Amino acid sequence: MVELALSEAEPSAAERRAIDDVVLVRSMGLLAEGSTGPAVEFDGDRIAIGGRSRIAERRHLVLPALHAVRDAVGWISPGAMNGISTELQVPAAEIYGVATFYELFALEDPGATSVAHVCDDTACRLAGGVELAARLQDSGVVAHPSPCLGLCDHAPGVFIQRQGGQHISVRNATAAAVTEAATNPGSVADEPHDLAALVVQQHPSLPLLERVSAGGADNLHRYRQLGGYNALGAAVTMGAAAVRAAVRQAGLTGRGGAAFPTAVKWDAVAAEPGPRHLVVNADESEPGTFKDRVLMEHDPFAVVEAMTIGGFSLGAEQGWIYIRGEYPEATRALRSAIAEARSVGLLGADVGGHGFTFDIELRSGAGAYICGEETALLNSIEGYRGEPRNKPPFPTTHGLFGQPTVINNVETIVNVNHIVNQGATSFAAMGAGSSTGSKLFCASGHVHQPGVVEAVYGTTLAEVLELAGGVVGNLRAVLLGGAAGSFVGADQLHQPLTIEAGRAGGFSIGSGVVMALNDTTNFPGFVSRIAEFFRDESCGQCVPCRVGTVRQSEVLHRIGAKPQTSTVERSLLNDIAMAMADASICGLGHTASGAILSALDLGLIGDTP
Ligand code: SF4
Repeated sequence: MVELALSEAEPSAAERRAIDDVVLVRSMGLLAEGSTGPAVEFDGDRIAIGGRSRIAERRHLVLPALHAVRDAVGWISPGAMNGISTELQVPAAEIYGVATFYELFALEDPGATSVAHVCDDTACRLAGGVELAARLQDSGVVAHPSPCLGLCDHAPGVFIQRQGGQHISVRNATAAAVTEAATNPGSVADEPHDLAALVVQQHPSLPLLERVSAGGADNLHRYRQLGGYNALGAAVTMGAAAVRAAVRQAGLTGRGGAAFPTAVKWDAVAAEPGPRHLVVNADESEPGTFKDRVLMEHDPFAVVEAMTIGGFSLGAEQGWIYIRGEYPEATRALRSAIAEARSVGLLGADVGGHGFTFDIELRSGAGAYICGEETALLNSIEGYRGEPRNKPPFPTTHGLFGQPTVINNVETIVNVNHIVNQGATSFAAMGAGSSTGSKLFCASGHVHQPGVVEAVYGTTLAEVLELAGGVVGNLRAVLLGGAAGSFVGADQLHQPLTIEAGRAGGFSIGSGVVMALNDTTNFPGFVSRIAEFFRDESCGQCVPCRVGTVRQSEVLHRIGAKPQTSTVERSLLNDIAMAMADASICGLGHTASGAILSALDLGLIGDTP
């Protein structure tokens, strides 16, 4: 037998139980009661996922096993790592490498049953997140500052990690509410009573937020009442190739940030020999972005139905949702929707009696922005550190487990329901130019009504801000597209929000962040936080990004301490940006300077231009 442990430490009884639960698949829902279970084979020794595709190892269980241990005992001990190593036959050094990659896995006992992760990023920073984190640290609650938690519509937001696994978000957090949530394990998240107040539609006929505006659909009966599952029947009648053709004709592009044509991925994967995978990227971690969370929390069956149509159209039997670990309510909503759909035969073998097989596996991330990069996400599912892969090869040919894989953002795939229901022509008629359909914008910061705004492409920035209740105070700038986007000045409000206008105007809609910043904003602090974000979230694989994000952050701190930017500092930032854009492997390095340089150009920090 190969010795895999790094030390003599053994897992405790509780840790061993947690690991066993994962290895025996009980806690993963893959062999859940009522599951038709086409996707899983378990012969007491090995687990295979994908029906025909047998994954001859257990490595992909590393992340679920770490989650199970963390939830059981509150941290990851050396004994637990040795136990996972032995059970999964993965070297302990590699288990350590994976565990240390993620922010939500503590390798030291926190000394408390709850840990509060307090957002001090972008929108929450404007709403007192920094002060809240300091107050909580003084009050005895185990609290850590956190990058964006996707709660910008309820800033400041806090994520409470609890031993036992019933993690919750605290929205519009106060020190008292966080203390109560951290010390009373029975407390639950506040449910919004008036969902309609949290979302705004430019026209009631726009499709994405229709059900959310009507109060949401947290069970199948309600979902069907509100038009759910009509699209699946229509898609089957159309046929797989016709659905792909409709997606192409509709001009659907990715809503996660890159705006890549969805049909190009779908056609490429459908043309590859199986087995194929459909992965939904729900690792919504771009600072300022929360639209996918709202969809998943309040319309989870729409994600399940759209994925089922995707699986049918692609000939993929296995779907995966990779959701960020800081989204406990969305995770529970999706888990419940998947289980209910499976229980009535809308997932599994012979979906809905339509003669095809499709099932969904939900995987949770553990606090790593970079896992939103599609190949990092695949590595994370496979049980490796969530580091981006070199491309090519692309996931369409060499994706999950080396097999053809489509990766779509949540909002992107939900649009497929509407393309099938409304018809591609009607979808393509919405929007402007090649930016078709409607878009979810995450309005936050200094607006009167932070929330998700659904508007057709081509709507101006001024109109989106108006739909969010208008700007509080005197607008100084808008952060568009998140930390990976850029600042635009108050003189740019006439800009139509389309992919083309962004390319021509040097800005990016990205994931739909529209964060208003008025003249009370501490811009040096705000921009420095963005630089720190990239410094902390760089996976460190390539030198230009690993070193460049650190140097960039240092320059920003120097600029913050001085009223003016020296030519040397500016030219250093330009050089760093160029090196990162030219020589980084992935989008993080390519975009880590965009917001910072735009802030300098607009005179938000440093010299007045
Ligand atoms: Fe990692 Fe940065 Fe390189 Fe991306 S660019 S792979 S985040 S080091």
